[in-house]
Amino acid sequence: MSASDQARTLLEQLGVDAARFMAGDLVVRTPITGEEIASVARTDAGATDAAITRATHAFAAWRDLPGPHRGELVRLFGEELRREKDALGGLVTLEVGKIAQEGLGEVQEMIDICDFAVGLSRQLYGRSIASERPGHRLTETWHPLGPVAVISAFNFPVAVWSWNAALALVCGDPVIWKPSERTPLTALACMSLFDRAAERFGGVPAGLAELVIGGADRAVQLADDSRIPLVSATGSTQMGKELAPRIAARLGRSLLELGGNNAAIVAPSADLDLVVRGVLFSAVGTAGQRCTSLRRLIVHESIVDDVVARLADSYGSVPVGDPREPGTLVGPLISGESFERLEAALDEARADGGDVVAGGGRALAHELPDAWYAQPTLVRMPSQTAVVERETFAPILYVLTYSEPDEAIALQNGVPQGLASSIFTTDLREAERFLASAGSDCGIANVNIGPSGAEIGGAFGGEKETGGGRESGSDAWKAYMRRQTATVNYTSDLPLAQGIVFDVP
Ligand code: NAD
Repeated sequence: MSASDQARTLLEQLGVDAARFMAGDLVVRTPITGEEIASVARTDAGATDAAITRATHAFAAWRDLPGPHRGELVRLFGEELRREKDALGGLVTLEVGKIAQEGLGEVQEMIDICDFAVGLSRQLYGRSIASERPGHRLTETWHPLGPVAVISAFNFPVAVWSWNAALALVCGDPVIWKPSERTPLTALACMSLFDRAAERFGGVPAGLAELVIGGADRAVQLADDSRIPLVSATGSTQMGKELAPRIAARLGRSLLELGGNNAAIVAPSADLDLVVRGVLFSAVGTAGQRCTSLRRLIVHESIVDDVVARLADSYGSVPVGDPREPGTLVGPLISGESFERLEAALDEARADGGDVVAGGGRALAHELPDAWYAQPTLVRMPSQTAVVERETFAPILYVLTYSEPDEAIALQNGVPQGLASSIFTTDLREAERFLASAGSDCGIANVNIGPSGAEIGGAFGGEKETGGGRESGSDAWKAYMRRQTATVNYTSDLPLAQGIVFDVP
């Protein structure tokens, strides 16, 4: 079956009307072969404005529904995802080139966050606070915030939306989604599954979940619209730097999930078998196209030669190829530009004295000339030069060497990004030091696993140029609500806070 036939079959199974993916001005290609698989209509500025208006109206109705009832819609949506996990996972593979296991894993992540959000819908707890005034009750209540814009990246085309949407919906907020212009098909499929859930739920206000298909101009429109109190934007740091000042200029809230440049420290006591497996999954998995992909390996000088030799061995045998085939571990890069960036980074690394010890080239160029497969690449670097400090969204792992633990932590923290980090050690003191306040400066810090592959239960996000946002589990839901502090006086006296006396003579 051709890739476009496969796309059509999957989209039809997922309930997307053929008119939505066969006659548009936005061409969709699969990175697996480079073939055109569909074309989708872009949403223009006027239609985007209308979507925001609908979401604003939907808010007025949705916020009044009790949280547990809102949770019921998300529960039904989770059921639709469970039913269509294979089809949606297959479409993720086709549209972004993730291997089948990872496509399915992404949909499982959506199911997990739905389950989490359903439970949360009964736990949107406020506090009861001790008042300093007699006969007064002081409480904190969390109220729905308003329409939330979700701008998402290509590499997690559906999970990131669901992290935001599942929480926003139980928190009482409509969602307006602008996916990456590279991934409109999976977005259409998600909306179709959401519509199925909404139909079963009954009475969902029009505009509760809106989709805007387009590029940066649509993201800017959402960022500038003061009817949207929260803009949750996932993508490159460059995108965040563009959007954040616009949102701030209208004093809106932004939740930013931007680029990472994630490291693992390998200490002398590390279990090296574990290191090799952990490094491979984190560095070459998803073809190095995760925000949490491992990009820097900081290895103690006493073991670095051994670690590099073992990794170079494994790198040579990683199966690169069609991500639909069982056994493939590394699929294609999203585009030719991504491959060009990989090549430019390698040139720069070589000029800085780097030694490419594995990979470094293009794979399957003859068989698939319109697709961009990269060999997983390992580069030994003399120091953390400018190219190592940048995020190159491809499977390049730079190996650095350290002698003292403080030096390893300084290298780990010595980049502009602050998303994910890890240490491989069996020394408890070293591990705790890494997790302490003077240790890793990242939002995510792991011990004896790589930096990628987070669960939805924890808050996800990072510091510095990663943007500071937190999504998914823990108390990330608070970003989607507004906090109200209420003081109730149930007496006939009027004592003032701070003991202020204000008696009219
Ligand atoms: P990207 O920045 O090119 O695009 C992301 C989204 O922002 C898209 O919807 C795009 O249309 C929009 N956009 C891009 N440039 C814009 C601009 N100047 N103004 C307004 N909108 C703009 O990112 P990508 O290539 O799709 O994804 C890869 C990047 O995303 C990597 O940097 C990766 O680390 C990051 N990412 C971060 C996380 C996280 O949770 N921290 C998760 C996934 C991806």
